[in-house]
Amino acid sequence: MATIAGVTVDTGHWIGGERVPSAETFTDVSPIDERPLAEIASGGAREAEAAVDAARKAFPAWARTSREERARLLHAIADGVEKRIEDLAQVETHDNGALIRSHRRGVMPRVAHNFRFFADWLLNLGHEDFETRGHTNHVSWDPAGVSALITPWNAPLMLATWKIAPALAAGNTVVLKPAEWTPLTASLLADITAEAGLPAGVFNVVQGYGAQVGGPLTAHPDVRRISFTGSVPTARTIAAAAGPNLTPLSLELGGKSPLIVFADADLDLAVDLAVEQYDNAGQVCLAATRLLVESSVADEFTARFVEKASRLKQGDPRDETTDIGPQVHRRHFERVDGFVQRAKADGATTLLGGGPNDDLGGLFYRPTLFGTPGTEIASEEVFGPVLTLQTFDTEEQAVAMANETRFGLAATLATGSPERAERVTSRLVAGTVWVNCFFVRDLRAPFGGSRQSGVGREGGDWSFDFYCDLKNTVTAP
Ligand code: NAD
Repeated sequence: MATIAGVTVDTGHWIGGERVPSAETFTDVSPIDERPLAEIASGGAREAEAAVDAARKAFPAWARTSREERARLLHAIADGVEKRIEDLAQVETHDNGALIRSHRRGVMPRVAHNFRFFADWLLNLGHEDFETRGHTNHVSWDPAGVSALITPWNAPLMLATWKIAPALAAGNTVVLKPAEWTPLTASLLADITAEAGLPAGVFNVVQGYGAQVGGPLTAHPDVRRISFTGSVPTARTIAAAAGPNLTPLSLELGGKSPLIVFADADLDLAVDLAVEQYDNAGQVCLAATRLLVESSVADEFTARFVEKASRLKQGDPRDETTDIGPQVHRRHFERVDGFVQRAKADGATTLLGGGPNDDLGGLFYRPTLFGTPGTEIASEEVFGPVLTLQTFDTEEQAVAMANETRFGLAATLATGSPERAERVTSRLVAGTVWVNCFFVRDLRAPFGGSRQSGVGREGGDWSFDFYCDLKNTVTAP
């Protein structure tokens, strides 16, 4: 057990409806001050095996549970989340350093919404029936089985529940492996599911390091779905582990998304959209980290951007007035700094920031903008508060630059012309395109990436397509 901001968090695994302590532990550190928060159970093959076994045993009864009852339980989980929004917000902020104000008013209410949305979607899931020469085709959505869900640290509970809610709604049982830098809210969610009355073994959590837990989990022949959000290198390892069993995979990976600012854009809006890319201290997969700006407005855009971004308040994420918190972990901070130092050595012009925030120390990194970026900083995902700015002269050039990446997660356009928006959007390689807006996400819409940003889509029917085995039953007249 650990107590964080007055909230008691169990530090064990959650397997088969029971807390399972571990002889081996790892230290979870807060990015706010790099002090230890808790000693967390560190699992391995044994715990992964036990959790899959518990989930496999719980599966037949859960799969047979009526849709109405599954939906009722998901709403009960949402009620439990809503009752504990402040606890969840406090613990998540201490664990990953993201802003308390966004956890309180944005993220945690959305976590509850994730359960409600998929509960309701389940109840409206269509049964498509059609006829072939007098025969009836009946299409049904059968639960697939044990689902292994592996999630990152940048929005721990939000990203986990995008997977947990549809997997449970579909009738699957779940083994969650949270990121080792942010293990705490998954443990609180286990308490909430138990209080809501979810049967033992339907939801399990194994804590620990990626390869030690994730390795055996993703190679397990009884796992019927793997849903992963994280980096491209880990995705490759997981795909290789899943290969021998041909386990279906959903992969939500990284990005290097563009924000294209045309000269006909509302420049105030364009600047606001660009500054928003520093949200979560830049640790957002969807962030438009490449600012592509039409030459004729580039000077004015840059001046206004630098002026506005310089006013962002960096500091303790527990303070409601803070705009930018710390990087999640010392290792990540150093990785971000490595990119920045190499960019400078490559001759990039520092337009803003360009290093750690020495006034604050610790893991606080200054919002940074580079002009004339070199190849690495303009093409690799930094996953920190680091943007690049490049200019273009024609629409053709803008599209080519936007697509010049191995990723394809998202793109944002700022333009005053709906015709241009339509033309450009149709040519962009991206799972989501935002026109004159950013980060608006509706769970009914497909979400995912093209190219190396991912495989598959989540949201609405697409989530159920993934978590179910679709069956067509053909009946003679
Ligand atoms: P990561 O790949 O290092 O880790 C993600 C998870 O995978 C963690 O739980 C980790 O423990 C686990 N893992 C590590 N090695 C493993 C292995 N061999 N087998 C199984 N699991 C293993 O990623 P990260 O650093 O936690 O997250 C940052 C990355 O996630 C960025 O690339 C970011 O763009 C991406 N991301 C994508 C989305 C999206 O929706 N597309 C959302 C958020 C983050």
